[in-house]
Amino acid sequence: MKDWGFQGSDTCVLCDVCVETRDHLFSTCCYFKVAFEQLFGLYTNFRPRNREDGLNWVIKNFGWKGEEAAAGRLIWQSVLSHTWRERCNRAFGADRKDVKALVRIVKMEVKLLGWELFAQKIWVRG
Ligand SMILES: [Zn+2]
Repeated sequence: MKDWGFQGSDTCVLCDVCVETRDHLFSTCCYFKVAFEQLFGLYTNFRPRNREDGLNWVIKNFGWKGEEAAAGRLIWQSVLSHTWRERCNRAFGADRKDVKALVRIVKMEVKLLGWELFAQKIWVRG
């Protein structure tokens, strides 16, 4: 954020512990990690190092083609986007959502887009 000229605190607003970096937000932040674990079920032994690493992992595990691959990419993109939205909401003083709320929103989004059946295989199988 400092690279963008931001003058405020560089502490992550999601965990209030670490220095906020892009890689922290989408990999090591405890807020993101809990969401990731809940959305990717038992695939919890994997921890993305950054956004690209996470997307590569999704592609490696679920492939490029087929419904499960599409569901995996949708979950990944949704968790990134809602994590970033939550980060911005907190940074600008809006209401805070806990990670359970974020997971519910991602699952609802997946359901509304019609991918719940395939996503459930990922959530359950893990
Ligand atoms: Zn954090």
